[in-house]
Amino acid sequence: MSDGAEYHYYIRHLLEQIGCERERQEAAKEAGRFAWTCADPVSNAERLVILAREFGEVCRATEVSGDRRAELIAARQGLRAELIQVAAVALAWIEGLDREVGR
Ligand SMILES: [Mg+2]
Repeated sequence: MSDGAEYHYYIRHLLEQIGCERERQEAAKEAGRFAWTCADPVSNAERLVILAREFGEVCRATEVSGDRRAELIAARQGLRAELIQVAAVALAWIEGLDREVGR
């Protein structure tokens, strides 16, 4: 497989992970954990609060404590998970914008 094809599949894998996180947001809303997602008809100011909160979680996840290999690996996985959440919130926001103009 060429490097280009490997990269293509890798990016698809990442986008699938973001899509799964996006679906998890909707499931959490359905379960009553929160009232809306950024895909719903709320203001951009409200959406920004959610994205900012997720960004803050990314910031905290960069604060690595400990120097053992296991701790560093866990920290990297935590940071990666937070970045996926930021991407999923951005995706939801785009969905919301697209719905506003009828796509
Ligand atoms: Mg988060």
